[in-house]
Amino acid sequence: LERDAIFRKKLNIHVSGSNVPSPLQSFAELKSRYKCKSYILRNLAELGFKEPTPIQRQAIPVLLSGRECFACAPTGSGKTFAFVCPILMRLKRASDVGVRAVFLCPTRELAAQTARECKKLARGKKFRIKLMTKQLVKGADFSKLPCDILISTPFRVQFAVRKRKLDLSKVEFLVLDESDKLFELGLVKQVDSVVKACSNPKILRSLFSATLPDTVEDLARTIMHDAVRVIIGRKNS
Ligand code: ADP
Ligand code: MG
Repeated sequence: LERDAIFRKKLNIHVSGSNVPSPLQSFAELKSRYKCKSYILRNLAELGFKEPTPIQRQAIPVLLSGRECFACAPTGSGKTFAFVCPILMRLKRASDVGVRAVFLCPTRELAAQTARECKKLARGKKFRIKLMTKQLVKGADFSKLPCDILISTPFRVQFAVRKRKLDLSKVEFLVLDESDKLFELGLVKQVDSVVKACSNPKILRSLFSATLPDTVEDLARTIMHDAVRVIIGRKNS
């Protein structure tokens, strides 16, 4: 659509892929277009968020349309909510089927921060959002723990899977957050084994990054299917 193209250009949103959904004009559109539950809009208002950031405007509709998303936007541009919001919407409510979403973050600090942000947006709903801590890894059978969203470094998830304490075969959403840093820190092998352990053929993967080195582009090409690529601003700024 012409209107979408003009709007994207104004906000420096670059997209590639087939049938890219229209960017959000406002958070209110989450309700009018995607029937978002009111708890999310209430939480956004409480956080004082008035407008979606450019990455949120484009990545949220992509994930809500059931498309994989390969996104690059500068640090501090709101990438966390760009995947937390649509994934909470698609999970709908807490369920006991097992781990349903996994967010991989490069460091324990980033994982803890992501868990905090995720809980802020989920307030008022009974989602079980778990940060993979050392105690949790050491604990008995993690697979019996009710968990909708598991947030962790790749190392801890991979370790728990290897010890057969964690079953990822039901995972519907996998996010590789700050994926450029996952590479810088040499975590590719661990990421790979988590990607493999998430064996549900209907999984929706997404990759968020602040920069786009070739390593990240290559990973996106190998693990994603019919992804929409969203870049805010310039590729490596
Ligand atoms: P990134 O992952 O791109 O580095 P974050 O997701 O950590 O960025 O977000 C950076 C900050 O911006 C956080 O404090 C977050 O709460 C805030 N933020 C996110 N979305 C919005 C928004 N739509 N309006 C205002 N602030 C926002
Ligand atoms: Mg981030």
